[in-house]
Amino acid sequence: MLCGGIDIGGTKIEARLFDATGADLHKTRRVPTPRDAFAPMAEALADQVRWLEATGGGRFPIGLSVAGIIDPTTGESFAANIPATGRSIPDGVEALTGRRLPIVNDCMAFAYSEAHGGAGDGARSVMGLILGTGVGGGLCIDGHLPHRHAGLAVEIGHLGAPARALERHGLPLRACGCGRLGCMEVYISGTGLANLSEWTLGRRLSGEQLSDSTDPEAAATLDIWADIAGECLDTIQIMLDPDCIVIGGGVSNLPGIAAMLTDSLARHRLGKARLPRITTPRHGDSSGARGAALIARDAWPET
Ligand SMILES: [Zn+2]
Repeated sequence: MLCGGIDIGGTKIEARLFDATGADLHKTRRVPTPRDAFAPMAEALADQVRWLEATGGGRFPIGLSVAGIIDPTTGESFAANIPATGRSIPDGVEALTGRRLPIVNDCMAFAYSEAHGGAGDGARSVMGLILGTGVGGGLCIDGHLPHRHAGLAVEIGHLGAPARALERHGLPLRACGCGRLGCMEVYISGTGLANLSEWTLGRRLSGEQLSDSTDPEAAATLDIWADIAGECLDTIQIMLDPDCIVIGGGVSNLPGIAAMLTDSLARHRLGKARLPRITTPRHGDSSGARGAALIARDAWPET
C-alpha cells in the first residue's frame, strides 16, 4: 500500500507520495497556496488529492498537515498565513472529493514522522522542536500523538524567555508576532538568531553567516543563542521529559548543533537529570507531508 501527505504552508501546498514504510518515492507536486479565500484553497487541496490518487494509481491513505492550530472539538483551523481560520479544512476537502482526510498540525506531523522511522526511532517519547522563522514543537508518545485539549501543538516558542537568561546577556524584551513581549522565539528561532546578532554586532547575520565568520563576536553571539536555547530545552525537559528531542527547521543545519545544545542543556538542567538524546532530523523538509501520510496510514480506513 502507498500513502500520501499534503503539507499546507503559507506559501505552498506540497503533495508527496510514500510507500507503506514511509520511504519517499520522490513524487512531489507543489502549488502556490491560494491566499485570499477558503474556497480556492480547498479546491487546490482537492486537486492535490486527485493528483496523488492518479500518480499512485488508486485509493490509499492520504493525510493533511497544516501550519496552524486545529480545534479538536469543532475541527476549525486557526492559521496566521492560510485562509482557513474559523473553517474546517477536512469539511472543505470532503465536499469536493468525498474523502474524509485526517489533519494534523505540522509540528506534530514532524514529531510523528521522526518517531516513526526517523531520528527518534526507538525512543518512547519524541519531542520535535522546529527552529525556523519561528519556533514550534510537537510531541509523540509511544507512537501516538497525545490528545491536545485546545488543539495546540507544543507552543513553547511563545513561553516567555527566562528573565535570568535575558539579564545574563543584557538583552532587551522585544515584541513577538503573537502580540506579547519577550517570547522564546524572539531569541532562539532563525529570526531570533539574526535579532541577537543585531544586538551584539550591530548587523543582522543569519546562523550560517555567524557560524562561517571568524569574528570572535560572531562566536560569542552563537554562544548566547545556545545558552538561551538550552533554557528552552530545560523547560521542555521539566515539563515533558522526552527521551529524544529532534531539532528541525533551518537552524538545525548549523554545524555541531546537537552537541552545542546538549552541552547547554547539561549546564541548565535541574540537578543531574538524565539528559535526553538531542539530534537532528532524518526526514528534513518532507516531515510535514511524511508525518501526515503515516498518520493517515495508521488511521486507515478513513472514517
Ligand atoms: Zn509570542
